[in-house]
Amino acid sequence: MEVSGMPHLACPVCHAPLADAGLERGCPGCSRRYPAVGGVPVLLNEANSVFRTADYLEGQGYEGASGYDGSADRTGGLRRLYRHFAQGLSEAPVPGGSAFDPMDIILAERPEAEVLVIGSGERELPGRVTYTDVAMARNIACICDAHDLPFEDASYDAVFAEAVLEHVCDPQRVVAEIIRVLKPGGFVYAVTPFLQPVHMGAHDFTRFTYLGHRRLFRQFDDLGSGMMGGPGYSAIHLLRNLFTGITDRHRPRSVLRLMALLLTWPMRYLDPLLSRTEASYNAACACYFLGRKREAPIPDREILAFFRGH
Ligand SMILES: [Zn+2]
Repeated sequence: MEVSGMPHLACPVCHAPLADAGLERGCPGCSRRYPAVGGVPVLLNEANSVFRTADYLEGQGYEGASGYDGSADRTGGLRRLYRHFAQGLSEAPVPGGSAFDPMDIILAERPEAEVLVIGSGERELPGRVTYTDVAMARNIACICDAHDLPFEDASYDAVFAEAVLEHVCDPQRVVAEIIRVLKPGGFVYAVTPFLQPVHMGAHDFTRFTYLGHRRLFRQFDDLGSGMMGGPGYSAIHLLRNLFTGITDRHRPRSVLRLMALLLTWPMRYLDPLLSRTEASYNAACACYFLGRKREAPIPDREILAFFRGH
């Protein structure tokens, strides 16, 4: 049985709780008004955000890289076939990928945990989960920008941010917001790329080394962290971009991309061999971190001891 989360909605500007009074919500604290689109509240602090409420009202809201569920794929015939084939090649799972499941640890300790997912309305997690995104995705409770989470203080047991922090302008501010909405001792789970080329167009701002990612979460104790995709996967990404970087013209790029996908297909088997060493952290594709919120941040000098690499 699927149990949905109970969103603890609050004003993204002043954090006053937002009563569920019809579709359009008014903030009792600062009197700002927040509309809903198709039943989904749009809760943006526009002064801080790259997103605009008006764009959602006009149906021009952010659609993600190519739109969720392929709804933005308006191609047909051979081109559609190509796109599906290329997508299948590029999204093929890495053999021997991580067996780490943060939900096992979270639910073992807090079986009734309320989980907030930021930046992914398509994720399917067990338990009481509130999904949020900047795109009109399937499961979202609201549209929000992670720099100003529209939730009450200390309202969630865990926050998930998978492949999100590279896409925000200010990751430090987003982590501060995650800390704010977490209950004492609450969990954070993040996956963030290190050696990956730019993706999702303009909405791509930064990368983190393993230690940089650890420092970002200095107000958390480490319950599990490591690489997600090793040097082999980093090499795949860079080789594909080496090919597609040859030209800006659309059609030759499609051919080059397909060549690169076919060429790098067998390289998926490199990581189980390459990711066994500390030195492999030097070229990790992405890193994951599961942490428990602390009372105070870890001093930077102590962060150095958490270095992984060679
Ligand atoms: Zn307000």
